[in-house]
This record gives sequence, C-alpha cells and structure tokens, in this order.
Amino acid sequence: MQHYDVAIVGGGIAGLSLAHFLAPSRTVVVLERETAHGYHSTGRSAAEFTLRDNAPEVNALARISHAFMENPPEGFVSVPLLTARGSLWIGTVGKEEAIARARQAAEAAGVAVVPLTVEEALLRVPFLDRDYVAAAYFDPNYWDIDVDALLQGYARSARRAGAELVTGAELLGARQEDGRWKVESSTGAFTADIVVNASGGWADTVAQRCGVAPAGIVPHRRTAITVDLPADINVAALPEINEIDEIYYFKPDAGRLLASPADETPCEPADVQSEELDVAYAVHYLEEATDLKIGRIASSWAGMRSFSADRLPVIGPAKDNPAFFWLAGQGGYGILTSPALGQLAANMITEQPLPEVFAREGIEPAAFSPGRFG
Ligand SMILES: Cc1cc2nc3c(=O)[nH]c(=O)nc-3n(C[C@H](O)[C@H](O)[C@H](O)COP(=O)(O)OP(=O)(O)OC[C@H]3O[C@@H](n4cnc5c(N)ncnc54)[C@H](O)[C@@H]3O)c2cc1C
Repeated sequence: MQHYDVAIVGGGIAGLSLAHFLAPSRTVVVLERETAHGYHSTGRSAAEFTLRDNAPEVNALARISHAFMENPPEGFVSVPLLTARGSLWIGTVGKEEAIARARQAAEAAGVAVVPLTVEEALLRVPFLDRDYVAAAYFDPNYWDIDVDALLQGYARSARRAGAELVTGAELLGARQEDGRWKVESSTGAFTADIVVNASGGWADTVAQRCGVAPAGIVPHRRTAITVDLPADINVAALPEINEIDEIYYFKPDAGRLLASPADETPCEPADVQSEELDVAYAVHYLEEATDLKIGRIASSWAGMRSFSADRLPVIGPAKDNPAFFWLAGQGGYGILTSPALGQLAANMITEQPLPEVFAREGIEPAAFSPGRFG
C-alpha cells in the first residue's frame, strides 16, 4: 500500500500552500473531493489583501505574507500576485466621528492615509451619493490578490517537488494502525504518518471521520454580487469602497463592481448558494450609498468563512492525537495569510525553527493551538 509522510485533506488555498512548503522535505499527498482545486471558499473570495482589518495576530501574519506575495520564489508565478487598489472609507451622517477615529488609528500606526472632503471622495468615486457620504478618507494600503495565480503557483511548486495532488478524492475515514494512519478515500486506501485537516468549512466533519474531537469551527455564509457600471466609468481605476462599520463593501471585480452586504450567517458546511435576502441587501446598500440604479445583477454567489470560537486560526497537532494536524479556521483572511500560515504549519510538522520574521512580528504558534479551547 502506498505510504506518505503527510496526507493533506483539502485542496483549497490552505492545503496547497502547506503542500508548497512541505513537499521539498516530505512525501505529500493532497486529497481534494471536488474535481477542481479551490472550488469552495478559495474560489469565492473578494481577493482583497489588507494589512489592518483583522486581529493583531492576523495582521502580523498578513505582513509576513505580503513580503512573499510581493517577492515570490523564483519560478512561482509569471504575473504579479498583488495589484495596488487602495480603499476609500466612507461614513454617512452621524459617522463622522467613526471616520475620524479610524483615520487617527491608521496614522498612529504609521500609515499615510489621506483625509478627504466629500468633494474629493466624489472625485475618486463619482457615482457616490453626495447626500449619503458625510466623511471619508483614502487608505493606499489595499491590494487585489490574483487568487488563481497564487493557488496554481502553490500547486505547481508542490508538484515539482514531488507532491501528489489528487482531485475527485474524498477522505471517507482514517484510523491508526501500528502507529500509522490507514486512510480510506473515494479513490482508494493508503497509509500516512500525519493527517492534516485543511478542509475549510468541513474541518470538524473531517476530524470526526478520523476519530478526533472537533475544534468548534463554524462556517458562516457570505454573499457577493456583481453589477455592470455605466460605460463611461473606468471600473478598473476605482478604489475599494468600505463602509466604516463594515456594513458593506464594494470593489472592482473583472470589469464589474462587486458588492457584498458583509453578511455572516452560521451554516452547515455545503456548496452554499446566495440567498435572495442577502442579494437584496447588497442591492440596497449599493443604491443607498450611490446614484446607481441596479436593474440587473450580473452574477451572485456565496461562500463559507469558517471561524473558531476566538476567530483566530487553528494550527497545530490535535490535543487528543498528535498525528492529526489542524490547519483550519482562517475566517475571512485565508487567502491573504496563506503564505505565512503554510510556512508556519510546515515548520511545525517538520519541527524546523520558524524564519526569524515570525518572532520579529511577535507570532506565537501557541496562540493558534487547537489545545487552547477547553
Ligand atoms: C465572499 C467571501 C469573501 C472573502 N474575501 C476574502 C478576501 O478578500 N481575502 C482573504 O484573504 N480571504 C477572503 N475570504 C476567505 C477565504 O476565502 C478563506 O479563508 C479561504 O479560502 C479558506 O481556504 P481553505 O483552503 O481553508 O478552504 P476551501 O477553499 O473551502 O478548501 C477546503 C477544501 O477541502 C475540501 N474537502 C472538504 N472535505 C473533504 C474531504 N472529506 N475529503 C477531501 N476534500 C475535502 C473541499 O472540497 C474544499 O475544496 C472570503 C471568503 C468569502 C466566502
């Protein structure tokens, strides 16, 4: 029977980033149930790179990841992974204070944000409703991620280093025999020393299939729609538009405008679809904050953002089985943190010291330990 050092369950950004970092030193197989990598959360994201909108630990992981994305390894990709976009933060009447506080916090963190009058905000996004916007500022530190190039880069590099990436292969169950995992998958059985759980919204299900206690990771549905803008608007040149309390956001997406009502509805792990009400909210926010009249929705979708109880990722050996490794709970930041989390997980599995930058950024792997939950 074929044996691997490590079997990774899940061929999204988490599983493939780990395969990239692990394959040079370990024999690796990645099982992906769907026929294509990235079919679930990874292929449904808003592709945003932010250095500031998450918990301090996550922002530190983002800073480490930013260096990788700006300067990926030789031969990893042939296109830039990040494109500067910038973000216009807006607030309506009554939210002027919130805008001022957020701007001051960014400046205190050493970020050169640009305070804007309403007129200046309208110059950047001409279709904003003049009566809606009461305060605004521009933050240049936002980028679009080329998610497909990143995912394919991880996959190519892992394959080159000898990893086997198997699609249409569902982990059905695994149990330990003579100190090894015997893994049953829909494409056959094999053995492995370590099973890694990188199965996104299914993380607790996969743990249970391996006889490991769940970590309490709950998928939350998030919706996005895209609409066409009038032909005289240069969509590609627009910034992101973020509501100051993150009630909604809009951003350019492949020639259209993406709008999300920033919904966060707990759900069962599934091929989630957009719900009518959430789509209606997205349209409502677009029409409320802008002069646009939305006649037709070009596309709509939903995906899962999976959170642990404290909304930090869950990385490390299971407390009830050291041969079962969690790489889950990446919430709404799994793409942008994938270089740092892939490296962190790989070095923990191979028991190698982390690159110095992790200590400089104050990353303590214990903060992400599956054992932190009671
Ligand atoms: C609308 C939306 C917007 C987002 N925006 C951003 C953003 O701007 N920036 C950002 O960084 N993040 C964003 N995210 C979050 C990001 O998409 C996720 O954090 C990330 O994709 C999680 O990656 P993953 O590999 O863990 O999960 P997935 O991509 O879901 O991969 C898990 C894989 O495991 C497979 N699997 C499950 N069970 C099994 C099994 N038993 N056997 C084999 N395979 C199995 C699944 O088929 C799936 O392909 C967004 C998410 C959504 C939904």
